[in-house]
Amino acid sequence: MLRNRQRDPVPDRLIVVSNRLPLVLNQREDGQWEAKPSSGGLVSALVPVLQRRGGIWIGWPGTTDATEFQVGPALEQVSSDYGCTFKPVMLSEEDVNGFYFGFSNEVIWPLFHDLFTNCNFEPTYWQTYQEVNRRFAAVTAEVCDADDFVWVHDYHLMSVASELQRLGVPATTGFFLHTPFPPLEIFLKMPWRFDILSDLLAYDAIGFQTLRDRRNFLYCVRALFHANVEGTGSVVRLRVHDSLGEDGRTHIGKEIAVGVFPIGIDFDRLANTAATDQVQQRARQLRADLGDRKIILGVDRLDYTKGLLNRLNAFRYALRRYPEMHGQVHLVQHVVPSRREIPDYNQLRLDMEGLISEINGEFTESGWVPIHYMFHSLPFEELVAYYVAADIALVTSLKDGMNLVAKEYCASKIDNDGVLILSEFAGAAAQLHKGALLINPHDIEQSAERIHRAFDMRIDQRKQRMRLLRRTIRSQDVHRWADAFLAASAKRRPSPSAVAGEYLPRAY
Ligand code: UDP
Repeated sequence: MLRNRQRDPVPDRLIVVSNRLPLVLNQREDGQWEAKPSSGGLVSALVPVLQRRGGIWIGWPGTTDATEFQVGPALEQVSSDYGCTFKPVMLSEEDVNGFYFGFSNEVIWPLFHDLFTNCNFEPTYWQTYQEVNRRFAAVTAEVCDADDFVWVHDYHLMSVASELQRLGVPATTGFFLHTPFPPLEIFLKMPWRFDILSDLLAYDAIGFQTLRDRRNFLYCVRALFHANVEGTGSVVRLRVHDSLGEDGRTHIGKEIAVGVFPIGIDFDRLANTAATDQVQQRARQLRADLGDRKIILGVDRLDYTKGLLNRLNAFRYALRRYPEMHGQVHLVQHVVPSRREIPDYNQLRLDMEGLISEINGEFTESGWVPIHYMFHSLPFEELVAYYVAADIALVTSLKDGMNLVAKEYCASKIDNDGVLILSEFAGAAAQLHKGALLINPHDIEQSAERIHRAFDMRIDQRKQRMRLLRRTIRSQDVHRWADAFLAASAKRRPSPSAVAGEYLPRAY
């Protein structure tokens, strides 16, 4: 259920712009389209704000098989059910290939996760990215008034504000990057580095997940433009003095609020779902099906940033080094299919499945198969039942904007009994480093040792750590995140408030 919250930091109408509209479109047998709202943290945070302000959510409805005219009635229906307007940006298959699979997911995604050798710097991708961003801006301009606040989400749409400026739209704009932002020496490898930075500087407010990401961004801006930063808190003011960019665009005198806003989850939704009889019973069933052994859980989209191979290698190393774990533990690995059109993803699937079968081949005994692997997505209640059933969650991201699975796992542990093993390279580590067991996923030996430690941890320690984790996650949920971003964008002043520090490893 979406919560109706009365706190409202800014009175202006809100226009949310994201790559996908938060709904699922289906074509019925009679040819008519129907739309159902999708669920998730972002939706439950933003829809209540849109309802209060009479706002609009703009995005691609997720199909290339229909015209706006054809999907119009379905969108009107869902808009009226929800009390806020969903407005589509229609894309062709060619657009989706160049803009989404191409530039967004073969250039920006790997580059922003420091994996530039996975980048495909195909020039036509950039052209399509610009064209599609222009189209998002044009649809926004149709509905936008000077008093509106336009909040653009994520790496697919970095050029929207600059296109809005070109169209003469005077509305205030904000941008939140859900992914990490890379260090200068990686960012500089991108052929369109000046264009992208210059486009980002067209926003009035920019939000990042962690201090690390903001520091990288500010460093890049100061390296490529004449700019200085005022303030030190969770929101600082970036002043751009001139335009030394190769693109010759001008940002003279521009002031931008640049903040750190670690995204949260809808904690209550997870905790309430975990508490239902149905989910508790299903969790007991899952445990019984696995012989009431300890469960280590992995839940990831198929993506090379998630460290899936590192995780499997660490688990194998743990089984080799700690024979007492044999027959006593299962790694249950859910992988959600993703970006099948990109060759790297198919290769990763083959590598991962090969390694799982090697490990199972090495250790399986009569009545015990160490790794249970599933390659499909799960309904929400089933996912929560797995969270409830699992003794340990294992997150091994090589780099991750936040990692919501880590937070969802903790929110679901209503009995406070569970251990989170978390990569220090996930954005979540900045907030959760005190309660989680942190790992460097490149360090197989250390990761294996942490798996064993979690396996062996006493209940009082497990509960103490989990209580701390849940307190942090609950107090910084997704509603707080949305309120904080909107309030900072409205003020656009530096804030003295503290921000979750960066986690830096110590040599012990
Ligand atoms: N998730 C899902 N279906 C599944 C498994 C997971 O929708 O079968 C959700 C999960 O609840 C979480 C999101 O996918 O909210 C994954 O977010 P995360 O930040 O961990 O990684 P991302 O996929 O965004 O890189």
